[in-house]
Amino acid sequence: MSVMQLRSYALGAWVAPAGARPIRTPVTGEVVAEAGSEGLDFAAMLEHARRVGGPALRKMTFHERARMLKALAQHLHERREPLYELSLLTGATRADSLIDIDGGIGTLFVYASKGRREMPDAHVFLDGPTEQLSRSGAFMGRHVCTPLQGAAVHINAFNFPVWGMLEKLAPTLLAGVPAIVKPATQGAWLAEAAFRMIVESGILPEGAVQFIAGGVGDLLSHVGPQDVVSFTGSAATARKLRAAPAILDNATRFVAEQDSLNASILGPDAAPGTPEFDMFVREAVKEITVKAGQKCTAIRRILAPAAHLDALAEALSARLAEVRVGHPALPETRMGALASAAQKADVLEAVGRIGAEARRIFGDPENFQLLGADPDKGAFLPPMLLRCDDPDGARAPHEIEAFGPVSTLMPYRDAAHAAALANRGGGSLVASVFTDDPDFARDLALASAAWHGRLYFADRGIGKEGTGHGSPLPHMVHGGPGRAGGGEELGGVRGVMHYMQRTAVQGSPRMLTAIGGEWVRGAPEIDAGVHPFARRFGELRIGETIHTPARTITLEDIERFAHFTGDTFYAHMDEEAARANPFFPGRVAHGYLLLSFAAGLFVQPDPGPVLANTGLDNLRFMKPVSPGDSIKVRLTVKRKTPRNESHGEVRWDVELTNQNDETVAAYDLLTMNAF
Ligand code: NDP
Repeated sequence: MSVMQLRSYALGAWVAPAGARPIRTPVTGEVVAEAGSEGLDFAAMLEHARRVGGPALRKMTFHERARMLKALAQHLHERREPLYELSLLTGATRADSLIDIDGGIGTLFVYASKGRREMPDAHVFLDGPTEQLSRSGAFMGRHVCTPLQGAAVHINAFNFPVWGMLEKLAPTLLAGVPAIVKPATQGAWLAEAAFRMIVESGILPEGAVQFIAGGVGDLLSHVGPQDVVSFTGSAATARKLRAAPAILDNATRFVAEQDSLNASILGPDAAPGTPEFDMFVREAVKEITVKAGQKCTAIRRILAPAAHLDALAEALSARLAEVRVGHPALPETRMGALASAAQKADVLEAVGRIGAEARRIFGDPENFQLLGADPDKGAFLPPMLLRCDDPDGARAPHEIEAFGPVSTLMPYRDAAHAAALANRGGGSLVASVFTDDPDFARDLALASAAWHGRLYFADRGIGKEGTGHGSPLPHMVHGGPGRAGGGEELGGVRGVMHYMQRTAVQGSPRMLTAIGGEWVRGAPEIDAGVHPFARRFGELRIGETIHTPARTITLEDIERFAHFTGDTFYAHMDEEAARANPFFPGRVAHGYLLLSFAAGLFVQPDPGPVLANTGLDNLRFMKPVSPGDSIKVRLTVKRKTPRNESHGEVRWDVELTNQNDETVAAYDLLTMNAF
């Protein structure tokens, strides 16, 4: 096999490696690639992202960028086969590669979908409702988020070359921010191949992404106040990078995801023979062996009730004995190689240090069976289980991360002790609890949630649907406090916010409407001269309004509605009982009657562009309506969101007022309208 020359992609052009260093595959120890980034003009790369990529991305709406992500995901999905071949060379088995490659593409798909469903087809993301800042409502406030006008620098870890790249790119690009991707040099051939597909797709605008194969040179001394550095890797490197003078001087956002001593807790109820015990054993073995334990979320510490410790040690050892270590291309191999010889040496060193306070009860790195590979040339290790019977006195198992197929078993006494031990990791990405006891789960959550970015509870009810302790999901926050880096990624739209600025905007309803693209109560109303239900999606303007005539509510209306629907609640039917209720002056109209009459007042009945009523949001009944009161409705186009080529969602601001112009009910009505 010829040695792959990994190229960088800078200022819209591919650049051959300079000052290259060889990169070996951990499977055979052979040199398979060379990478080097000498000579790249890193300051110019940042400027290119800011001047070319950023403006092109910001011209697009969230929906346009979401569609771009979907097209990219589809493009990669159709071409992913060659990536598996390159993934083998990183030491990954087919199952490992699915997590990396398909997991990465899946993350793009989720962000594409969330961008269209949860973000507006606009340039501004509204964070929360308006705030009334003055008595009459003439002066209002609202928080808006807009894309940062700098570049994102993504510094990725070696363990997931594709997922690591795509899980950062998806929220960054959706936010409208260009990125410079720097993969870990080890395994960079896989990241480069996936990145090449991204560029060749032509789906992203020029400047949206650039790539560094090799070191980052002086890049970090050129970052500014609108840039973001998002880092995954070791705590030591994170500490160094977050203290870079340009990052400190400019308060450049720095998101870190780093080492984590994740714990998994077997509940006191989860005795041998229970479904939770079996689930725990399966999960712990999976976490020790998937990606040869090189997962930031892997279970490093196994906490079990003292009474079940021996049985658990036995069950885990029996399962681990079935794991076949070997060449990742062999179908019978369950666990492949570590990322590099250096990584193997690091793991052995860490095991030695933990071993000073724990004893190895399974796995011998000097003596294990290896399938189809040379133990002297490849970076292979067996799964290893350690046991520490004094978890309170010991420090190493809570502080040293062996980033490989290694976990340490420890006993605990009760929920408080289990939580205290879990928290001794100093802040982690994830902790899991295997229990069928909701009280234990709650105790653990209260005592421990603040120390972990994610808590995973497994009981028999989740069956096979649980995604597992170690899987960060694009929908859920990934990151953790303290030792885990203090950062957050993913978490759906939350992850997009790391690349946007939240700004408190204050002004009149008219200004807030213009800026946010959503009609704010008190802003001018537009009379189009026709009923808005007769107007197509494209014709409707934000602020178009109708005011209906009034309708008087009679006692007979209330009684008919009560008997028709079966809702004969006393507040509508029994004068004396209603009067005794502090909320009502006597019998009052049903809230749902008011909604129904409101629809009767504002609906335009002829067939037309309104296709369906799809729901109500934010419904509030503010003032009771008594027999003899009258109601009228104001219906205003609040926001428009295209859903596909033929129709879009219209959000209407609906306000019901009585004969004294007091608001009796308000809500958002959602309709689907033809284009
Ligand atoms: P590093 O922190 O050394 O590397 C992580 C990334 O940072 C790589 O892209 C690396 O590039 C880059 N980097 C390293 N030094 C600098 C620098 N001075 N300036 C800019 N970028 C830099 O971690 P390793 O990959 O060596 O892994 C070491 C340990 O980190 C593991 O054993 C494990 O404990 C932890 N780790 C944690 C992960 C997690 O997800 N939480 C993932 C991977 C590792 P390059 O490769 O070119 O050096």
